Parts: sequence; structure tokens; C-alpha cells
Amino acid sequence: MSKIRAYAAQSANSPLEPFAIDRRDPGSHDVAIEIAFCGICHSDLHQVRDEWGRSHFPMVPGHEIVGQVAATGRDVSRFQAGQWVGVGCFVDSCRHCEACRAGEEQFCADGMTLTYNGFERDQVTPTFGGYSTRIVVDENYVLHLPEALPRERAAPLLCAGITTYSPLKRHGAGPGRRVGVMGLGGLGHMAVKLAKAMGAEVTVLSHSARKQAGALKLGADHFVDTAKADLLKSQSGAYDLILDTVSASHDYNAALDLLRRDGTLVLIGVPPPSPLAAGSLIMKRRHLTGSLIGGIRETQEMLDFCAERGVAPEVEMIPMEKINEAYLRMDRGDVLYRFVIDLASLRKEAA
Ligand code: NAP
Ligand code: ZN
Ligand code: ZN
Repeated sequence: MSKIRAYAAQSANSPLEPFAIDRRDPGSHDVAIEIAFCGICHSDLHQVRDEWGRSHFPMVPGHEIVGQVAATGRDVSRFQAGQWVGVGCFVDSCRHCEACRAGEEQFCADGMTLTYNGFERDQVTPTFGGYSTRIVVDENYVLHLPEALPRERAAPLLCAGITTYSPLKRHGAGPGRRVGVMGLGGLGHMAVKLAKAMGAEVTVLSHSARKQAGALKLGADHFVDTAKADLLKSQSGAYDLILDTVSASHDYNAALDLLRRDGTLVLIGVPPPSPLAAGSLIMKRRHLTGSLIGGIRETQEMLDFCAERGVAPEVEMIPMEKINEAYLRMDRGDVLYRFVIDLASLRKEAA
């Protein structure tokens, strides 16, 4: 066991503050990772504020982790000290259920072990995330970071990247397909980049008119201001596929109306309950589905795809002590497009 510097929230209404956590010594299959960077996902905010009603405190958030292998257990075969690696939203699962065997560990029948705000397989030991200087993870849940990915920008791929890559691929984003990305935040901006890299025609559907120039710069073909009712109406029936990444309550019927016959709306954002009418689906035989991050195999595939195609997140780097300010700014949509914490700042604080 060793004491590790971290930032934690002690309750749903307290700010994040310095905190010391225990990390286990690496077991025979473990990799100890010196964390260099950690992205800030809106799910961190939802959970710190207990908006989903299943938060455990103290909470050390962070599930977009990039770092260097510091030490490996004696049976670890896939990693060596010094390598750059990533850790995403989960650090373990049962490994024998149908979902785990299919490489879809996020749907583990016994529940995946969340990187934070969860419990290890013993269901007793709390897990703590990447707002910390070091983490210890079983090698089967650690990703290789390809050389070609810029280290300081790669962290958001571990959640925002896989969460958008998986449904884009599953629902056939590609040449000749019109894809809408609703909500241009951390997930949304990755959806734009990935859908473009897959060859689709991409429209950003945003309620923030000020984001238009940025959306086009990211590679989007079109921008629609969803706050303008007449503009939205003109898009009725226009899309094959829409990824809805909006984090706040909104009207799903308006999103469904944008789909053509047999088109698909994928819910990715996890806002409070939002209205849905049967007619929105029935009238054009539309499909409504959801998507949850992605398995380890597909996450590695996404990292390799991004390395090969030169796809990387747009980030704003912050020191750890700016975390509470970053949360407020993220809530206002004031970030292009993902905050990433430089953990060197926390090591310095500790010195
Ligand atoms: P984010 O960076 O804060 O982006 C959310 C976007 O939602 C904003 O940029 C904004 O886009 C839009 N939005 C915010 N408030 C709105 C409002 N009142 N009305 C309409 N649109 C609004 O968040 P993120 O990190 O991308 O995460 C997005 C959501 O996905 C969160 O709910 C998060 O928990 C969830 N998530 C799900 C998974 C999964 O596996 N399913 C994984 C990760 C995250 P515009 O300004 O462009 O409209
Ligand atoms: Zn996330
Ligand atoms: Zn399982």
C-alpha cells in the first residue's frame, strides 16, 4: 500500500480539494502507472454533484487517464516500464460472463468495476480515479497508447473518443451517410472528428450559435443552431444518424424529427429524464437507441484508428488546482473542447 496525492470531493456540494488515497502495491498481473494527464468528462461533474443518485464520497474522479508505466507485476506480459498507456472508464469486470467474453466488458453481467465512484471486485474497496498521481490497474484493462498520438492531447480519447467511435461504427457512419452531432462539447467534438474520418457528411446541431466557426474548423460540413425553431424545422427528416451528447434535459422529439425514415437516434448524454412521444418514432419507423462507452478491444481499435488517421482531441491544459474553476466553465460550455489536467502540477504541490 502507498499513499498517493489526489483531489477529492467530500460531498455533493463541496469543492474538490487535496486528499491522500491508498493505492495497492502492484499484484502479479498489475501495472502501476504514473499519471501524466487526465481529461475532465461531464460525467465527472454529474457524479461529483450526485446528479445520478449513486455517488460515494470521498470521490476522486477521472476516467480519461494517460501516463507512463512505472512498474509491472511479475506475470505482466503486455507492458514494460516507461511505456505510455491509457486507462478509461473501467478497471475490471467479471471476465467470464457473455458480455466480458464478447469484449463488451462495459455490459458485464456482474457490473464493470468503474475507475472511480465504484468498488473493486471485492465490492468493498472503493476505486479512485485519475485526479491523482498514480494508479494501479490489471494489465487486461490497460490500453497501449500508439506512438503517433500526442500524449498531452490523447487523454479524452479514453472516454469521449471511444464513446463516440463505438456508435458511429456500429450504426455505419461513412460515405453517403448524413450524420448529426447534437451538443458540441467534449464528446461532440470527438464525434465530429471521428465521423469525418469515417467519411460521413457531418452537421453540428448546437444550441450555441457562437460555436459555428469552431464547428466548421473541426471539419463539420454544416452547422445548425437548434435554438432557432424555423431553422430546425427546415432540417426535418434530413439525417440518417444522430448522436445526442447533450448533458442537460431537452426534448428528444425534436431530435427524432430530424431523422429520415428508418434513421437512428443514439442517446449518449445522460441528462435528467427528458420528454419522448411514441409518435416521434412511429411516424417514420425511426430507431431510438443508446450507447455506453466501449469495450477494451474496441477502445484499442479506436486509439489505433486515431493514430493512423491523425485524429486527436482539442484540449485546454490546466493545473490541478484549477479544477473547481474548470467545472464551472464546463457547465457554461466555456471550453474548446476538453479540459485536461496536467498532473505534474499535483506532484509539484506535493513537493
Ligand atoms: P460537455 O463537454 O459539457 O458537452 C455537453 C454539451 O451539451 C454542451 O457543449 C452543449 O452543446 C450541450 N448542452 C449543455 N447544456 C445544454 C442545454 N441546457 N440545452 C441544450 N444543450 C445543452 O459534456 P461531455 O463530456 O461531452 O458529456 C456529454 C454527456 O455525455 C454527459 O451527460 C455525460 O455524462 C455523457 N457521457 C455518456 C457516456 C456514455 O457512455 N453514454 C460517456 C461519457 C459521457 P451545445 O452548446 O453545442 O448545444
Ligand atoms: Zn466520461
Ligand atoms: Zn462480466
